[in-house]
Amino acid sequence: MSDLLDRLRGRGWRMTSQRRVVAQVLDGDHVHLTADEVHARAAALLPEISRATVYNTLGELVSLGEVIEVATDGRARRYDPNAHHPHHHLVCSECGTVRDVHPDRDPLTDLPARERFGFTVAAAEVTYRGLCPDCAKA
Ligand SMILES: [Zn+2]
Ligand SMILES: [Zn+2]
Repeated sequence: MSDLLDRLRGRGWRMTSQRRVVAQVLDGDHVHLTADEVHARAAALLPEISRATVYNTLGELVSLGEVIEVATDGRARRYDPNAHHPHHHLVCSECGTVRDVHPDRDPLTDLPARERFGFTVAAAEVTYRGLCPDCAKA
């Protein structure tokens, strides 16, 4: 589990019922939800939660560094609670399923000095695309 709720409690994050459902919806492994998906799932648990509250809470979790924003398909940003374990993404181009993956080699150190153009390189985001087993079958 990504233990997002535990991490937030540990940081003394002010836990209201609205914030708790947002964190609850995002907790888990391989979770990459758009803001609208977070809102839909949060509203299933707490019908009165507004879209604005969900958006604000997501923004706050991102600025705390407890949730990362990933752009996996050039469309809506997705929110990922797996913020403390560097990883990359495997994306199904058909259904949009996203998996957290860990390549054998580190793409950050793999970039040779001649390809860095004098940049101090701080992070690498790699997206592998293809078809998940279910879509490959169909
Ligand atoms: Zn698929
Ligand atoms: Zn991820």
